[in-house]
Amino acid sequence: MTIQGWATGPQHSTYDVVIIGGAIMGSSAAWFLTDNPDFTGRILVVEKDPSYQACSTAHTNSCMRQQFSNVLNVQISQFAADFVKNLRDYMGGDPRVPELTIQNYGYLYLADDPDFAETLRSNQKVQLSAGAETRLMTADQIRADFPFFAVDDILLGSINTKDEGYWDGGTVFDWWRRSARARGADYIANEVVAITRNRSGTRVDSVTLATGEVIGAGVVINASGPRGAKTAQMAGITLPVEPRKRYTWVFSAEQPLDRDLPLTIDPSGVHMRQDGPTTYLAGGRGDPDPAAAFDDFAMDHGLWEDHIWPIIATRIPQFEAIKLVTEWAGHYAYNSLDQNAVLGPHSKVENFLFLNGFSGHGLQQSPAMGRGVSELVAYGEYRTLDLSPFGYDRIARNEPLIEKAVI
Ligand SMILES: Cc1cc2nc3c(=O)[nH]c(=O)nc-3n(C[C@H](O)[C@H](O)[C@H](O)COP(=O)(O)OP(=O)(O)OC[C@H]3O[C@@H](n4cnc5c(N)ncnc54)[C@H](O)[C@@H]3O)c2cc1C
Repeated sequence: MTIQGWATGPQHSTYDVVIIGGAIMGSSAAWFLTDNPDFTGRILVVEKDPSYQACSTAHTNSCMRQQFSNVLNVQISQFAADFVKNLRDYMGGDPRVPELTIQNYGYLYLADDPDFAETLRSNQKVQLSAGAETRLMTADQIRADFPFFAVDDILLGSINTKDEGYWDGGTVFDWWRRSARARGADYIANEVVAITRNRSGTRVDSVTLATGEVIGAGVVINASGPRGAKTAQMAGITLPVEPRKRYTWVFSAEQPLDRDLPLTIDPSGVHMRQDGPTTYLAGGRGDPDPAAAFDDFAMDHGLWEDHIWPIIATRIPQFEAIKLVTEWAGHYAYNSLDQNAVLGPHSKVENFLFLNGFSGHGLQQSPAMGRGVSELVAYGEYRTLDLSPFGYDRIARNEPLIEKAVI
């Protein structure tokens, strides 16, 4: 049987690696494994929805930034930038792979209180030490560079226009998936509905598919996005990850801006950026912000009218006259402990690997995280970036890994 051209049944009854979820993270892990000559095992990627309609990857805003407060997050994005700009080389020089660029309009953080201004200053130090090119801007400098902003209330801004802005995440995802499949990774349209552990509980040894097959697994990688906790639960493991709704609006302006709009993070948390040549994209969330049902993608129309648009039009008065073009709701895989990734083995179930909890920055983290997990599988350790601070142990100890620049 096939669904959208994908087989539902696996070719083998055991695999060295079973990846649960075949969107950008699962496909990155699969691709990096197939790219590693030291790994020759069999890979199964189980994806419940090959249309990818509901996953986070399909709803993303596809931007990357170097402006994090945690140096490891900066390094992760630096690898993302290198990977995106050299995609064809990474893909072995295949001439069919497009050359990609990053639309470097930068992220512009705006602080309207002394505490956040101080945070921007200390973040800049971290970013500069890691090689980023973050600049702090006074309100006058912001007015000079971007005359359309109303910034009378702003104490400080922070911008970086190197390797920061929009990139084509969909194309990278497509090529990882195509290339991993061409190199023998087995992708199936099916759902993992159960996971078994050995008698002592120290290892997972099989996954059960919705169609009933039980597949032996050497390693299981949880790449289930907002459903990450549900998948972990099948193995008897708790993971503080839940779907949180994030809304996107694309609009055109009666009077378009005369230069690119950086991805501007208003002090209210609402953000907006250039989209097409004369369209703009805004993002925001409801308040309160509860966990959403897995299949709840309903728009909150009042949110735009009553909250988002007024903020946008106050910050950029030219945006008084705008027209909505399209809108959607997507889900973050929200790590409620610290909004950071959870990566690597469970503390007690050693062959259950997390690739979870990426909240709002998973697209840009997909190259480094997929590579990192592939190293754990192939060598039992990280060989490039040491990603161990993202390990599950901190979750078990309830010790957040602080990242102050969360969107
Ligand atoms: C509105 C919005 C804007 C964003 N903007 C950005 C941005 O600008 N920059 C950035 O870096 N990140 C951004 N993100 C975050 C980023 O999109 C995600 O972190 C990333 O796409 C996560 O990918 P994933 O593969 O982990 O999860 P997903 O894309 O959700 O994929 C998980 C997959 O697992 C499958 N699955 C789940 N359970 C099972 C099961 N039991 N069996 C089989 N398959 C299963 C699902 O069908 C799904 O396809 C944004 C997210 C949203 C929602």
